[in-house]
Amino acid sequence: MPKDKEPHRLLGLAQATDLILHLPLRFEDETRLTPFTQLKPGLVAQVEGVLVHMERSRGGRTQLLFEIQDATNARLRIRLLHFRPNQVAALSPGVTVRAFGEARTGLFGMEMVHPRYRVLRPSTPLQKTLTPVYPNVAALSQYRLRQAIAAELDAADLADSLPEPLRQHLGLPEFAATLRFLHQPPANADTALLELRQGPAWERLKFDELLAQQISLQRATIERKYQHAVPLNDAQELGPRLLAGLPFTLTTAQARCLDEIRTDLAAPHPMHRLLQGDVGSGKTCVAAACAALAVGSGMQVALMAPTELLAEQIYQKLRDGFTPLGVNVVWLSSAVKGKARSAALAALADGRAPIAVGTHALIQDDVTFARLGLVIVDEQHRFGVEQRLALRAKAAPSPIGEGAEKEGKVLPHLLMMSATPIPRTLAMSYYADLSISSIDSLPPGRTPIETRVMSDARRTEVITRLAEFCASGGQSYWVCPLIEESEKLDLKAAIDAHAEISAALPQLTIGLIHGRMKATEKAAVMAAFKAGEQNVLGATTVNEVGVELPNASLMVIEHAERMGLAQMHQLRGRVGRGTRASTCLLIYSKPIGAIAHERLAILRDSQDGFEIARHDLRLRGPGERLGARQSGQQMLRFADIESDAHLLEPASNAAAELLRQHPDAVKRHIDRWLLGGEARLYA
Ligand code: ADP
Ligand code: MG
Repeated sequence: MPKDKEPHRLLGLAQATDLILHLPLRFEDETRLTPFTQLKPGLVAQVEGVLVHMERSRGGRTQLLFEIQDATNARLRIRLLHFRPNQVAALSPGVTVRAFGEARTGLFGMEMVHPRYRVLRPSTPLQKTLTPVYPNVAALSQYRLRQAIAAELDAADLADSLPEPLRQHLGLPEFAATLRFLHQPPANADTALLELRQGPAWERLKFDELLAQQISLQRATIERKYQHAVPLNDAQELGPRLLAGLPFTLTTAQARCLDEIRTDLAAPHPMHRLLQGDVGSGKTCVAAACAALAVGSGMQVALMAPTELLAEQIYQKLRDGFTPLGVNVVWLSSAVKGKARSAALAALADGRAPIAVGTHALIQDDVTFARLGLVIVDEQHRFGVEQRLALRAKAAPSPIGEGAEKEGKVLPHLLMMSATPIPRTLAMSYYADLSISSIDSLPPGRTPIETRVMSDARRTEVITRLAEFCASGGQSYWVCPLIEESEKLDLKAAIDAHAEISAALPQLTIGLIHGRMKATEKAAVMAAFKAGEQNVLGATTVNEVGVELPNASLMVIEHAERMGLAQMHQLRGRVGRGTRASTCLLIYSKPIGAIAHERLAILRDSQDGFEIARHDLRLRGPGERLGARQSGQQMLRFADIESDAHLLEPASNAAAELLRQHPDAVKRHIDRWLLGGEARLYA
């Protein structure tokens, strides 16, 4: 057989043994024969009889018709719409025919059209187990696929990767029995349950899949313990000095997170931690304190954010905090060019500049650091693994002695930040190699935001409300989401909306900011809005709305039905910063479906980022959320982290036990499950 025609290759599998995890979608029952008298229209059944009559009908297309007769002398007509000469040759009165198909009512009583059939010797034994129907590709017949998988089930090493006491403790069936059951269930098996992928055998399979994931992630965590990083002890006490200069004290939640991070940073191994918390919960302040710890330990810090605007805001915050301490903060974006850029690069390369803040510009090849000790990535999920790795790779060769360098490269500590919290089940599965700190409460003085969901049909009402609000001195955001697939159209929508409101409310000054504008143009619009020169700021996306303005307390979001929950929640977090009562109006355009309605209702009823993230995961599954993480790492095929959440903890415990005590079982399990090699480690 040519290699590229082998069944596993046609299915995109690396090796033939991977076929054993290619599982049936459903089953057909060829373990028994149905008497013709019991056939009913729509019943899918196996029948057998002696051929008593055959003919070719003409009239339009030629059909092949034959009648078979069973032991009770009842007859069944079989009709073939297309056929080959050798099929005709094999059929003649007196042969025994066994057919599998759907019965229906024809002109002359019950018939089967195009059943699968065979001519065979009388009393040929029936199948002993149910017949699997596999997910398939066109180039492969079910028959060949069944043969290949059955052969592999016989040939493959199905030894259990769970040590017997552990398996019994978990109350799971044996691996070999599980696979035989799933591929070739006995005649009396509950196929409905199997097709729902439930019951003990499926439970075992899902457990094994989660176990493979846990092993791979826990191994990554263990490996990090063998990597080196410079412990950041802040001998110069720069952290406390920075905090002392702030006009407020940290909230309990911030202080707890900072403590968790500080403990990691003091270790000689690279930290790998996520700091999560709603927009405005004070992550940047905590990040600044961490940066101070690093600088106070004589190391450099690089902080990267996904957009120019976000990066710039962080830059300003850090510059305000660090300048009084005599610490220079360098700004690097694609807009920084020429002499300014070379000066910045030189200061980072020789270590004069302790802190760099910027965009992707930080990971350009010519950016080097003298002694990079801490990398901070804001909105981490918007970067790919490669980009985070690239920034981390900027660590200079070992500053802590040759011995260490021989053992491995010295890496900077890594702090990631996200305003989209990771729900518990995700944290326990895909992100199990990540330590997480959560800022779970907002700084004092925030006002609750009233959220209302309105149809586009009430637009005039919204515009009237906007006019009244601005007349009383408030400022407002007006957001028209920009969706990537139709960027031009949406840009037009934003420009149109801007024109519409400007025309309806000539007494107001209305700004517009969008992704196609130059950074300097954007900055000018933002500055005008911040200075109170504009009543309304129209914007196309979240990225553009990055200001913190206590006076802005109304937010209108158009086409809310198209936006992600997390995105809208973040956007909404821009209001509610002042003393004025804040409102967020979510405007949808009809028609919208039930799920879109539910999403908007979730946002209306909750202001808790964690709860919103949980609903988001429930409604969308982990796919989109994991987009950037998944380069090279596969998604779970069988287990669902929500409905199989009860397996997460046992799988995690079992993984720890196997890694500690059963390296052979670990190898067997990983070989079996991680098709095409070990999952790409998170960085
Ligand atoms: P995030 O990065 O999570 O969006 P920031 O760190 O930028 O949040 O903080 C948001 C706003 O809240 C900033 O204006 C900041 O000065 C303020 N802030 C942060 N922490 C506190 C605190 N403990 N008490 C009062 N205000 C705070
Ligand atoms: Mg922030």
